[in-house]
Amino acid sequence: AKSAGRNALRFFDTAMQTAVVERARLESDLRQALENQEFRLYYQSQVNAQGVVVGVEALLRWEHPVRGMVSPAEFIPLAEENNLISPIGAWVLETACRQLALWARSSATEGLSIAVNVSPHQFRQACFVDEILDILAHTGANPRRLKLEVTESLFMAEGDTVRARMEALRSEGICFSLDDFGTGYSSLAYLKRLPLDQLKIDQSFVRDVLDDPIDEAIVRTVIALAQSLELEVIAEGVETQAHCQWLYEHGCMAYQGYLFSRPVPVGALVVERQAACMR
Ligand code: C2E
Ligand code: CA
Ligand code: CA
Ligand code: CA
Repeated sequence: AKSAGRNALRFFDTAMQTAVVERARLESDLRQALENQEFRLYYQSQVNAQGVVVGVEALLRWEHPVRGMVSPAEFIPLAEENNLISPIGAWVLETACRQLALWARSSATEGLSIAVNVSPHQFRQACFVDEILDILAHTGANPRRLKLEVTESLFMAEGDTVRARMEALRSEGICFSLDDFGTGYSSLAYLKRLPLDQLKIDQSFVRDVLDDPIDEAIVRTVIALAQSLELEVIAEGVETQAHCQWLYEHGCMAYQGYLFSRPVPVGALVVERQAACMR
């Protein structure tokens, strides 16, 4: 039994060592990824109740030369821990704003907005506001077409700095969406204090809205909350017609999900009106 235990321990050690080495490798690859131009920005459409594509969410992809596409769920946390999120986030903002400037040149796309995910680490950098203003200035993107998606964690233990920065950006025309709403350490108090424009209903609630009474109650409540605070509301993870129909009937008028489109490279994006999901 003793030797079996020792073997188990040795096995465990080896597995841990491999994981540590793997992680260190991924980290050093991530450091090179910007320079090697391995990041791609994918876009997923957001549609209104008439099926009109009103905007897109920009979703980051890492095309690793050996591993293939690495999920942002895997490398964003790594980037945050290694202070790489700011340069990566700046690249995302720059790329999205260049896209906005291109879209502004054609009537089919000029009205589209781009929602960009902003990590709390990135938002907390002192230079964040100036950086965005600089990007807007040199790309010529219309700030009214730029939306920043932030999460509840940004507002934890945060004084007036976050609010002041949001207000500075908002005075330029940029708007704010609260992503993954309801999944974090929610305090409804900040909803009153913060200059938000939109609540985004998390896909974990949308997924089971048709058969889980708890999820149904949560989604109804978020919609009602948005309405009474005069915020827009958008549902993510809308995969079926039935989900979309339910959301429409309960007062949610904007949708994002595989029903309409997966996140795709810009060339594959369909900006024409989507077959109406509402009857
Ligand atoms: P998120 O912001 O909540 O993005 C939504 C995720 O749901 C995306 O995963 C999207 O591809 C996926 N999704 C969209 N529609 C559906 C659907 O109908 N069904 C299902 N099951 N999933 C759907 P993705 O692209 O893997 O991104 C994961 C997360 O990585 C994002 O979650 C976001 O938190 C983060 N992320 C992505 N891009 C960026 C970025 O540029 N900056 C930062 N800071 N984070 C990013
Ligand atoms: Ca998001
Ligand atoms: Ca989300
Ligand atoms: Ca559930």
